Amino acid sequence: MSLEGKVAIITGSTSGIGLGIASKLAAEGAHVMLNGFGSPGEIDALQSKLSRECRVRVAFSGADMSKPSEITGMIEQAVRELGRLDILVNNAGIQHTAAIEDFPADRWDAILAINLSSNFHAIRAALPHMRQRKWGRIINVASAHGLVASEHKVAYVAAKHGVVGLTKVVALETARTGITCNAICPGWVLTPLVQKQIDALAQREGVPVETARERLLLAKQPSGEFATPEQIGALAAFLCTDAAAQIRGTTLSVDGAWTAQ
Ligand code: NAD
Repeated sequence: MSLEGKVAIITGSTSGIGLGIASKLAAEGAHVMLNGFGSPGEIDALQSKLSRECRVRVAFSGADMSKPSEITGMIEQAVRELGRLDILVNNAGIQHTAAIEDFPADRWDAILAINLSSNFHAIRAALPHMRQRKWGRIINVASAHGLVASEHKVAYVAAKHGVVGLTKVVALETARTGITCNAICPGWVLTPLVQKQIDALAQREGVPVETARERLLLAKQPSGEFATPEQIGALAAFLCTDAAAQIRGTTLSVDGAWTAQ
């Protein structure tokens, strides 16, 4: 498997799953554009480490995925700085948990914008570049919550179900081309996004963090093990190969049997 010479944008790649995907695509030879929040020093260090270890070019865009004009700016910047665009991974996402009556309207708006609408804006801007080369890979990081629901996650579940629907439409509209669009649906992956939920559970139930981690995991994920950013990265890289050319418009779960129940 070689992605040598390809150019990939991975949104939300300064941490967690996005960083796992960016690292794997770079390891396979793709030049990558990182995106997300973080301190300039840390992002600088990340860029140097990836480009040194993988011998690829590593660009960075600080575009805020809640702002459509910054999203189109990020796509243009990638093409300008890295010369083309072959792979788009829509991964940036946030979470907020509360019962619907207590769910702040501004959190609903932010989650819908970052977790769903950003995918629309990025794909819309990226597709002409992929059509030009008659090849492309669009990978949307949805969630087990794109397939099933949990209480207290109304915005997240709605957004991720939306991502799965969007994925199917894009796959149909590109079906006669060399461009594919799919959604990866991870279960629990131990990242800062999930650590916050573990800490909240520990506090709510008055138990140690390790106990809260076990409880959170086992409540949903029968394997009792977290999926890892490396595993999600490996699947994303596979989706970029020719072997995956007819995997289109579908969801690929990496969830320890969460959605088998
Ligand atoms: P994370 O918090 O570790 O990383 C999120 C990334 O998104 C960071 O790089 C952050 O800077 C970036 N980001 C946040 N808001 C942004 C914005 N407005 N603009 C640009 N970048 C922004 O989270 P993660 O767990 O790695 O989640 C990544 C994706 O995977 C999300 O879409 C999440 O919903 C999904 N997911 C995570 C899990 C899990 O268990 N961790 C499970 C299923 C799906």
